[in-house]
Amino acid sequence: MIPSVLPTYNRAPLSFVKGEGAWLTEADGRRFLDLGAGIAVNALGHAHPALVNALTEQAHALWHVSNLYQIPQQQALADMLVEHTFADTVFFTNSGTEACELAVKMARKHFHDKGQPERVEIITFDGSFHGRSSAGIAAAGSEKMTKGFGPLLPGFVHVKFGDLDAVTTAITDRTAAILIEPVQGEGGIRPVPDADMKTLRRICDENGLLLILDEVQCGVGRTGRLFAHEWAGITPDIMMVAKGIGGGFPLGAVLATENAASGMTAGTHGSTYGGNPLGCAVGCAVMEQVATPAFLEGVSRKAGLLRQKLEGLVADHPEVFEEVRGMGLMLGLKCKATNTDVVGAGYDNLVITVPAADNVIRLLPPLTLTEDDIAEALIRLDKAATQVEKQLATA
Ligand SMILES: *Cc1c(COP(=O)(O)O)cnc(C)c1O
Repeated sequence: MIPSVLPTYNRAPLSFVKGEGAWLTEADGRRFLDLGAGIAVNALGHAHPALVNALTEQAHALWHVSNLYQIPQQQALADMLVEHTFADTVFFTNSGTEACELAVKMARKHFHDKGQPERVEIITFDGSFHGRSSAGIAAAGSEKMTKGFGPLLPGFVHVKFGDLDAVTTAITDRTAAILIEPVQGEGGIRPVPDADMKTLRRICDENGLLLILDEVQCGVGRTGRLFAHEWAGITPDIMMVAKGIGGGFPLGAVLATENAASGMTAGTHGSTYGGNPLGCAVGCAVMEQVATPAFLEGVSRKAGLLRQKLEGLVADHPEVFEEVRGMGLMLGLKCKATNTDVVGAGYDNLVITVPAADNVIRLLPPLTLTEDDIAEALIRLDKAATQVEKQLATA
């Protein structure tokens, strides 16, 4: 009999009932160190006082009004994002994949309105992830996500990750844009080198294409910059944001330049809940914390410490791990053992990590992780690795 919850997830038998900072309490009272943060969502950890205040204050005042009216919280968050980024304008969504939908529509409408309606194709990369909507799965294109789901949204051209020659070859007079994650998340924490990001920007400029960045997972301070593309010293035309921006409240956004967004006039797009007062009040509180040099320096400092200790962990457990990869607090441990076994051993030792493709486990802790948390993380990860080693020895 089908479960009452549609069984599209393989869920661990863990029910968390309370969170504080980087810590989660299970229904049976056990306390887990959370290095997953809801897959890079709880950027400020669990129950951050500033977010709890923002949400409860707004909840007492007003939950929902339609986008038919002014929404001051939405205006404030858009102004903050415009102030701190390349963007001239912002549309709010409830999720990352809805941001993908608009990014695709915006790019096509841009060329349509510029008199090049044949430019509809978007070049994307293998191993990418852009969410589970029809545009999202067509953009990523993997068999795992698309098989059985009928005719896919046309207009995506897939090239090998890291193969910039293939990008150039794929460009035709039907190409509208290149869409890429600066650091692949689901794909196994694979950063795009700065030089490649610069080359992609140049390729877009030379061919009159739009550069769309998916910073749903790597954005909002995760890499130690407000957005990951800043490390390469380039800017996109369109950027998808979600996950961290809501700190746990469902919130996403598409950021764009005035030029890229020029086709999106009144009536061309909409959302019932996107940009609602609750989400935007929380989003403003997230931005107030994260978008400061001191906070971002703190992320880089803690990331350096965590990474150094993880290098030691890998060296101590060569049968379990191969290497550390990633940027900032978006780190991956490429496994020699089976990644899901390592995640499971983590559960046994009260530390939460997240599996990814390419046999990687992801560490995406709250950006507010403390040095004590990092020390505790290493103790628990070391125990988990030792447990996996024992399992391997008796297998
Ligand atoms: C999670 C994710 C998405 C999809 O976001 P949802 O909120 O789950 O729709 C899109 N792109 C990237 C890079 C992601 O990590």
